[in-house]
Amino acid sequence: MSIMVPSTTPALITPGRQALDSALHQFDQAAGHLGLDDGLRTMLATPRRSLTVSVPVRREDGRLDVVQGFRVQHNVSRGPAKGGLRFHPTTDLDEVTALAMWMTWKCALVGIPYGGAKGGVAVDPAGLTTRELERLTRRYVSEIMPLIGPEKDIPAPDVGTDEQTMAWIMDTYSVSAGYSVPGVVTGKPTTLGGSLGRTGATSRGVQIAALAALGRSPEGVTVAVQGFGKVGALAAQYLSDAGCKIVAVSDVTGAVHARGGLDVARLRAYATETGGVRGFHHADALDRDDLLELDVDVLVPAAMESAITEVNAPRVRARLIVEGANGPTTPEADEILAAAGTTVVPDILANAGGVIVSYLEWVQNMQAYSWGSGEVEVKLRDLMLGAFSDVRSLAAERGLTLRQAAHVIGVGRVAEAHQMRGLYP
Ligand code: NAD
Repeated sequence: MSIMVPSTTPALITPGRQALDSALHQFDQAAGHLGLDDGLRTMLATPRRSLTVSVPVRREDGRLDVVQGFRVQHNVSRGPAKGGLRFHPTTDLDEVTALAMWMTWKCALVGIPYGGAKGGVAVDPAGLTTRELERLTRRYVSEIMPLIGPEKDIPAPDVGTDEQTMAWIMDTYSVSAGYSVPGVVTGKPTTLGGSLGRTGATSRGVQIAALAALGRSPEGVTVAVQGFGKVGALAAQYLSDAGCKIVAVSDVTGAVHARGGLDVARLRAYATETGGVRGFHHADALDRDDLLELDVDVLVPAAMESAITEVNAPRVRARLIVEGANGPTTPEADEILAAAGTTVVPDILANAGGVIVSYLEWVQNMQAYSWGSGEVEVKLRDLMLGAFSDVRSLAAERGLTLRQAAHVIGVGRVAEAHQMRGLYP
């Protein structure tokens, strides 16, 4: 049986609808493999709660803009809902639903006691001043206030948001509660109870997954990274630190390429100063989308969904793809890559480092205690490598791709939680 969730925009295949179709396809395959009955399948394919809000924002010139915001709790059977908050102009309910669903399987896969959620506001943060962004964030939070809380649903940074955004959310929620509630968000500044190691956690997890999948010395291994934001820039840095040669990176401004390897630390400083990688003097310019087709050992998509599709997948030459982004490969592309013998370490495994350290941050907040960075790093590595080994073993045992195996484990654990809890009433 194929699960259909009605689209918010049925006449048009939006990026969000494409992401939701991918997520549902991946779920459906896993549910088939697990032999789940139709009722449970429908329940797991359907978000538990979806909230759409209108967020009025007073602009600096006095104008009033109204933007759409969303919060989706896909599943809460294993614990409070957990998931990032995205500020991006094309974000819509379908995209947020897909991202929330992937969060559910990801948390179950790495064995942390959370359900999956996601939030989004359809806005370009680059077009707002800091004060406008603050007003927007606080108003969005007040609109979704009934849903969030440290025991209910805990947001974190995603595309277009950062630790400052989390600080505003924590403050808005705390003012309403009447006392400080650091556990309402993760990815906060350390001065407000953020965990040591959270900033680079997703990228560290990408590095751990990439090195585990490589299975050989990283010395001289060539890597291309799509996206040079919070995940991509530090993934490039950590892979470079491990001995890999980062030959190309891209962001919305363009792409840069250096056969001999990029000086990643210098490029990060340049991108911070100029707002992007384009124009970096110590490399050649490259067409942004050509980066995906470079002859490299490892490709790390760390930007947006549906970057690798049936159109460009036949031209992807990397033998290993490690998904820093959520949903960067469509199901059609997956089939092409699998047939070509390309290994794909899927998003719900490769980028799980972020939610793992978010969980550690939340545990520290709930205990009003803080761990040293060494302790956080060891726990992150153990959880990542444990999940990696589970996925690889199941894939080998049942002849599945790593994505299929990861989904079978994640979906299976959530289904088991539903079956154990039973249905109310
Ligand atoms: P970000 O906003 O910090 O960075 C996004 C980057 O992608 C920017 O450099 C942007 O310029 C670039 N980009 C956008 N479109 C592009 C294109 N067409 N080609 C090349 N580059 C492009 O966001 P982020 O937090 O780094 O998130 C990136 C991805 O990682 C998203 O899919 C997100 O859901 C996922 N992710 C993030 C975290 C986290 O902790 N931040 C955790 C897990 C997964």
